[in-house]
Amino acid sequence: MRSTVKLGKVSGIEIGLHYSWFIIAALIVFSLGQHFHQVNPSWSMWEVWIVALITAVLFFVTLLLHELAHSLVAQKRGLKVKAITLFALGGVSQTEDDASDAKTEFWVAIAGPITSLVIGFGCLGTAMAFGWQRSAEPQTAVTAVAVWLGYINIGLALFNMIPGFPLDGGRVLRSIIWGISKNADRSTRIAARVGQIVALLFILDGIWQFFHGGGFGGLWIAFIGWFLMDAAKASYTEVETESALRDLRVSDIMATECVVVNRGMSLQEFVDIHLLTTGQRCFAVEDQGRLIGLITLRDVSRIPRDRWGQATVSEAMRPGTELRTVSPDTPVLDALKIMVRNDINQLPVVSHGSLQGIVSRSQIMQLLRTRDALRLPAGYRPPAELSWRNEVDVRSMSRMLSRHSRV
Ligand SMILES: [Zn+2]
Repeated sequence: MRSTVKLGKVSGIEIGLHYSWFIIAALIVFSLGQHFHQVNPSWSMWEVWIVALITAVLFFVTLLLHELAHSLVAQKRGLKVKAITLFALGGVSQTEDDASDAKTEFWVAIAGPITSLVIGFGCLGTAMAFGWQRSAEPQTAVTAVAVWLGYINIGLALFNMIPGFPLDGGRVLRSIIWGISKNADRSTRIAARVGQIVALLFILDGIWQFFHGGGFGGLWIAFIGWFLMDAAKASYTEVETESALRDLRVSDIMATECVVVNRGMSLQEFVDIHLLTTGQRCFAVEDQGRLIGLITLRDVSRIPRDRWGQATVSEAMRPGTELRTVSPDTPVLDALKIMVRNDINQLPVVSHGSLQGIVSRSQIMQLLRTRDALRLPAGYRPPAELSWRNEVDVRSMSRMLSRHSRV
């Protein structure tokens, strides 16, 4: 989730708003205005809307405090937090890494609901100090704001403690299973499954309410359920991916039959000879056996077609100095993270300055699809003695490289 409006930084964490937040903020102001107008008919129109607006802004502040509680505890326990984004259904804190132990996960997850609960009871206490009685509707502006914020924050804490991943309660559940079973993957799978069940209950309840006079409220509940279902599924897939790729090194999966092209070749020739006939999208550019750059479909399409005849491969390629590279023993998961973070589709695998192969996103996806199609258990690994296959490939590749460098 990328934020559309950046508000500033707290403790190095970027705070932003996603555009969907504005829709919900407008809805909150509107429904609060109607509510205040109904319960306090003596208030002027101005009073009603100003109080509604202030309440909505303070609600935003309390939501932010909930997210900040997660983030600050995470920072304290050594996790890097990049940003907090508020959107229609609450907030998300983006951490650079996941918690590495069950205790950290537990405290980071529970910090948010505790904060909301403290704020909630604090607001109700404030309202009482200003003369609000629990059985009556608040009469003054201050008590009206405090009571609404009090109930909504307590509600927020309770909602978030529903034990379905990725809600805070799901993370707490996950950390408890993790602490007992010492198995992080299994705990995420269980918490995500519970999350899917909770989400399904939300959807069914929402539909039921909609057809029994619940109207918009029912649809809203079903919508939240649908969102939770999506998020729970995504967390499940993420764990599957991570456990399938764990222990794999780049050298295990990289393509070693990498086609090397001459730097002086014209783009037109390159397109005709290589791009249109091989189906490959990425080619290494070498000069006397050393990798000097990489040329991809994307690089070619940046050059206008009428220049293809004159422009050379080395003009269009991304030079080696600008390339992110990995070594053969880089974990595949790390390589995937580098590609996602830098929005690139392939990484040259380089050892001592010479190109060993290329690892690409599509290759990793293909590997995952293959495992999925064969229904291999998450922990399955090919036996280690099969690694001879790679040596053969390397030999055939070096033959190929020497063939090309003679060109
Ligand atoms: Zn939370």
